[in-house]
Amino acid sequence: MASSPLSSHSSRSSRSSVDLSSEAQTRALEPLYTQVLNRNPGEAEFHQAVREVLDSLGPVFTQRPEFADAKIIERICEPERQLIFRVPWVDDSGEVQVNRGFRIEFNSALGPFKGGLRFHPSVNLGIVKFLGFEQIFKNALTGMPLGGGKGGSDFDPKNRSDAEIMRFCQSLMTELHRHLGEYTDVPAGDIGVGQREIGYLFGQYKRITNRYESGVLTGKGTGWGGAQARTEATGYGCVLFTRQMLQTFGEDFEGQRVAVSGSGNVAVYAIEKAQQLGATVVTCSDSDGFIVDEKGIDLDLLKQIKNVERGRVAEYAERRGTSARFIAGSGVWQVPCDVALPCATQNELYETDALALVRNGVKAVAEGANMPTTPEGVRVLQKAGVAFGPGKAANAGGVATSALEMQQNASRDSWSFEYTEERLAEIMRHIHDACHETAERYGQPGNYVTGANIAGFERVAEAMLAQGVI
Ligand code: GLU
Repeated sequence: MASSPLSSHSSRSSRSSVDLSSEAQTRALEPLYTQVLNRNPGEAEFHQAVREVLDSLGPVFTQRPEFADAKIIERICEPERQLIFRVPWVDDSGEVQVNRGFRIEFNSALGPFKGGLRFHPSVNLGIVKFLGFEQIFKNALTGMPLGGGKGGSDFDPKNRSDAEIMRFCQSLMTELHRHLGEYTDVPAGDIGVGQREIGYLFGQYKRITNRYESGVLTGKGTGWGGAQARTEATGYGCVLFTRQMLQTFGEDFEGQRVAVSGSGNVAVYAIEKAQQLGATVVTCSDSDGFIVDEKGIDLDLLKQIKNVERGRVAEYAERRGTSARFIAGSGVWQVPCDVALPCATQNELYETDALALVRNGVKAVAEGANMPTTPEGVRVLQKAGVAFGPGKAANAGGVATSALEMQQNASRDSWSFEYTEERLAEIMRHIHDACHETAERYGQPGNYVTGANIAGFERVAEAMLAQGVI
């Protein structure tokens, strides 16, 4: 049978993509990258995320020319649907505020669009698209039936009252609800969106639709459809993934000195799990500066300041006593450590930081945040032989546990913390092994970036090929 881009059995002899070396295949992706630049002007973070994936995929197209023939990657780079909408609301002083809401429904080959909502003043189309693009591959890597999407708003929750947060969430959902559904698009949290916001969003969705549709949002409270361990899952998962990396060269967390950036949900639970495994975590940070605590971070104090009082890390040093210092500004990666876990935000670990980490003898770096390491930073770490776990693998525990939440909602079940954590650990092991084996299969042993990109891509590509040109 003659091969065709519609066929999942097309032979190697069909098209121009045939028999090119992987370098030639990577070069063959250049026009696509140029098209992405031209079609999405000014979206620097999106360009960066696409570039990184394209740089990994050359070898796949050499072995699987039918993916190139069916223009799978060209289609993946173009979101299925992009929503931008006005979010008007009234603040506590009676003034009208106008924000912008986004939802990028990037790819639904494997399941309903799935990914968080981010509320932060830096949110723009390029940021949401980079996050949505990463989410496609991350979600695929979990092995769960999840498509990829992301959304959010340039709303700044800092110093807003509970009532303002509620009115904002209600206004956002008043528009967004028409695009969501447990089989359509399932948001969750991200920076600036936690259980409180998910509660207000869910309440408004339920009111408008007149449906108790638990599976439409994840990250819910455990008393009303949320999964145990979902709050902990991203940070825990990142540490579990790192542990798998360490074990490939005969090490574990016990006795390691760990540097963590950030002090949000991901950072706090990465610190908790690393401490449970016997590590000493000496840093955490926020946008004002960072803490160095030689005795190890006192997690109860940090949780009290961040989660209960919604305060700043500077207060931690004031209350902790002599073991801790607060240092204003960036610089957390100058602190010597064996393991570094960037858990704050995108592009927070630069080339100079990577050089400092290498100089100080770092063994492993794993991204709890999405794309926290710049491409130059990644190159430095990989060249120095540091085990580097990219976010789409290392922080996939959050969304994987969202899938477990959806599973419980669909079956009207609720699992214990222990059972859910066991499932998370199993998923993180599976993700690690998939990345590791895929990198080996494509001749780049130990390169988790290539492994994650290819393993995620293959799963999405197979499904897209099977589902035709849509
Ligand atoms: N925002 C998280 C992420 O970056 C979680 C998404 C989800 O649970 O849907 O993966």
